[in-house]
Amino acid sequence: MNSPLLTVRCIVVLALLTLSIVTVACSKPEQTTAAAASGAATPASDSNSAAKPSVSTPPAQSAPSGPKPNVDGNHVMRYVKEVVAFGSRPVGSPGHAKLEQYILSKLKGVDVEQDKFTAETPVGKFAINNIIAKFPGREDGIIVVAGHYDTNYPLPKTYVGANDGGSSTAMLLALADQFRGRTLDGYSVWLVWTDGEEAFVKWTATDSLYGTRQLAEKWEKDGTAGKIKALMVVDMLGDADLDVLKETRSTPWLSELVYQAASNLGYQSHFYKMQGGVDDDHMPFLKIGVPAVDIIDLDYGYNNVFHHTPQDTIDKLSPQSLAISTDVVLETIQLINAR
Ligand SMILES: [Zn+2]
Repeated sequence: MNSPLLTVRCIVVLALLTLSIVTVACSKPEQTTAAAASGAATPASDSNSAAKPSVSTPPAQSAPSGPKPNVDGNHVMRYVKEVVAFGSRPVGSPGHAKLEQYILSKLKGVDVEQDKFTAETPVGKFAINNIIAKFPGREDGIIVVAGHYDTNYPLPKTYVGANDGGSSTAMLLALADQFRGRTLDGYSVWLVWTDGEEAFVKWTATDSLYGTRQLAEKWEKDGTAGKIKALMVVDMLGDADLDVLKETRSTPWLSELVYQAASNLGYQSHFYKMQGGVDDDHMPFLKIGVPAVDIIDLDYGYNNVFHHTPQDTIDKLSPQSLAISTDVVLETIQLINAR
């Protein structure tokens, strides 16, 4: 159905130089070609050692009171394994349909909205479904955590996207387990399993981010956007060698808050050693003025070699990384509530 371009990539680290990292969306062609195409080269601003965190000063927020988040990484990993068991999950595939039902089955008793629409893609019309789980809070406002559940398209059937698609789906399920059945003390939290994040043929502005481009437009029209205090995108955070990028297009205060959260939990060594700009699900929301951050590890295997390949398998992930990432999201929510 689609052009079987094995070179299709959505997000790729293009250069990991001694002192800088340059990332752009889409294909994994030659560094110069893609960099030129994107016009998005983002050299590191810091001339010191790459080991130095790129956050210059800690934000003013201190650790919130109360127990620290302590998610069971094995629990998150079990979700990843169940997701991966559906096989390849591109939009329109049997695996994708099964995963939709699986996610919904895990959200029984939760206020769930299915944001369904038909996307025009370079290879025809496809049904897209953003799944939104809403957990009410006592404060007026919404914190969104989003991550995509589709896998890249088209790739060999052996591609399972354990990290790219699998980890984000699982983290959101684990977050739902934290929030269900109670009224949250702070803002409401909405978890969004975004769909159609990946390109159908080749990553471009119109062949990518189908779900979030539509959702941002909808939320802008219906007034939801104005209620969102912050939006966090989680992507590829199960990597056993966890190395979260400081994504430079993200809203600065929110990006620093994520680093503060990691520091509060003693996980800062996994964050922001490298920086660069990435096109991801946060972009449509940034465009409509919603504070947004992309929390992503784009150093997946040496030179990101496992990304969008059949080597993106469960053995490259660790429960520890999933626990760290999920805990940092929870701590960041606490910090947003304390602002
Ligand atoms: Zn991807």
